[in-house]
Amino acid sequence: MRAQLRKYIDDLSDKVRKACGFDDNRFPVDLELCVANIGGDMVRAERRPQSIIEKVGSESFRVSVWQGMSPSKDRMCVAHELGHLFLHMGFCVDEDNWNAFSAGQEDPKRLFGYMDIDYEARSFGLAFLIPRYALEHEVWKQQGGGRVDLKPIAAHFGVAADDVREQGQWLGVFYRDFWPWLSTLVAVPWTTASVDGHAS
Ligand SMILES: [Zn+2]
Repeated sequence: MRAQLRKYIDDLSDKVRKACGFDDNRFPVDLELCVANIGGDMVRAERRPQSIIEKVGSESFRVSVWQGMSPSKDRMCVAHELGHLFLHMGFCVDEDNWNAFSAGQEDPKRLFGYMDIDYEARSFGLAFLIPRYALEHEVWKQQGGGRVDLKPIAAHFGVAADDVREQGQWLGVFYRDFWPWLSTLVAVPWTTASVDGHAS
């Protein structure tokens, strides 16, 4: 994905998180509350697919998530679907796009049949749940030896360690791990030492 697009997605996720009434430091992000605060509701479905977003009314939507997933996977699926809602269905972003969807039409791929749609939604989901300022702060708390343990960071954000690794590498907060057998650790660039302004 082009860096410019990913930057746009990161910025949009920040705006949406604020619009949802999220308190900057209360991690993990309360997705139930966020969805409710912007006119959506959430359903746990007995059957797959993993997750679906659908328009319910002119200002409302529904996220359905299969109930058989782990809590971290469940959270990432909800955030992913919010990515589709804003990026691909235009909710609160592009009125014409949003109006082109009719209630009950849940699959944006019908209108946007291109490959990157899920990658973009995932990028939104990662940025929504693991914002840069908060990730840098968690990394800073662990400073020492130039490596961090992803497990406590993943627990802090309510996501999987691989999600933290992916987002941190994209943001440049982490270097790639040179030692794959240390599966929860990644190297940290020295520049993260400068994020102590975020300490609370
Ligand atoms: Zn998707």
